[in-house]
Amino acid sequence: MKALIQKSPTRVYSNEGPEPLVVLGLGSNLGDSKSTIIRALVELQIHLRGLGSSSLYLTQPLHVSDQNPFLNAAAAGYYPGGPGEESARELLSLIQGIEARHGRERTRERPKGERTLDIDILLFGDLVLATADLTIPHALLCERRFALEPLVELLPEAREPQGQRTYREICRGLPDQGVKLMEPIPLRINI
Ligand code: ADP
Ligand code: MG
Repeated sequence: MKALIQKSPTRVYSNEGPEPLVVLGLGSNLGDSKSTIIRALVELQIHLRGLGSSSLYLTQPLHVSDQNPFLNAAAAGYYPGGPGEESARELLSLIQGIEARHGRERTRERPKGERTLDIDILLFGDLVLATADLTIPHALLCERRFALEPLVELLPEAREPQGQRTYREICRGLPDQGVKLMEPIPLRINI
């Protein structure tokens, strides 16, 4: 069987089947970040079947340094919309709606600066896509411990859709970027 991913003895994720296994990266460093991320996860449970979440991580800003640390987490679940590009675009607009409902105002912020909520599609099943407005796997995933560490906690065996490496191996090769494990997310997830 291909790409079996085990989160715990009780939760096994698989990339096979008509519903792609989607991994999202969530981040916030403005407002009540913990509450924002938890509320966003609750909203995401409506759209992703079997949603699971990593712990929360406290992370130093990587690209623009004069801003507060971020809280980050990863979430994974199955997207019922199907495996193709059109479905991934549908999910992108869905997560942008969630960002907006949590106070995200793209027009008023500086790139890679403070934000109430950022949700990125890290993985969308085995889809590989590089277009102007959507790149999957996320273009910077392999450079960012703040995205990789929560992903690896959640899905320790996850692999690049094209390539031999696991994300755990990729993460191991990165320098210290000031990513600190904080606490589990107190969200009851029913599969
Ligand atoms: P950041 O790059 O800091 O996450 P934004 O959240 O403002 O910045 O996203 C900028 C743009 O990145 C979005 O409008 C979206 O079209 C694009 N984008 C490309 N690939 C992805 C992806 N995998 N997940 C989310 N957004 C993406
Ligand atoms: Mg984003």
